[in-house]
Amino acid sequence: MSGLEDLYREIILDHYRNPRNDGELPTPPAQRAEGFNPLCGDEVVVYAEVDGDKLRDVKIAGQGCSISRSSASMMSVAVKGLSTTEVREVIRTFKAAMSMHESQLESDEALPGPRADLSGLGDLAALQGVVKFPVRIKCATLSWNTLAQCLDQAEQAAGS
Ligand code: ZN
Repeated sequence: MSGLEDLYREIILDHYRNPRNDGELPTPPAQRAEGFNPLCGDEVVVYAEVDGDKLRDVKIAGQGCSISRSSASMMSVAVKGLSTTEVREVIRTFKAAMSMHESQLESDEALPGPRADLSGLGDLAALQGVVKFPVRIKCATLSWNTLAQCLDQAEQAAGS
C-alpha cells in the first residue's frame, strides 16, 4: 500500500509544481468566482467559460497549500470540456468522496459500505487519502465549491 501512497504523493506534488490550466480568462464571457479557506489560508480564483451547456474553458489562479493547489489543477483537467450537467456530477462525486469520511470518523470503525469512488476520475484518485486528514478536506474541496459558484453565476446570466 505504501507504494500506492508514494505514487499519489508524486501525483499531488506534480500538480502542485506544474499546475494545469493555470491563469485567467477574460470576463465576460467567462465567470469568475473567489474562494477562501481561512483554516489554512488558501485562496483560489476560478474562471469558467460556459457556452450553452458546455464548460468550454476553465482557468485557476490564486495561492495555497499543495492540497488546495493540486486539487484545483486536477479539477480543471477533469471538468474542462464537459457539459455543465456532467461537471455538477463530478463535483458531487468528489465532494461525496471527501465528506463520506467525516461520518466515518464519528464511528469507531471504518464502514465497509458504499463510498464515492474517485478511481474513474484520473489523477483525482490521488486525493482519496486526504480524507484521513479532516483538517485538509476544506483545502481539497475549496476550488470545487468555487467552480460550482461559477456554474451558478453562468446559469443566472443565461436566465436573465
Ligand atoms: Zn490548504
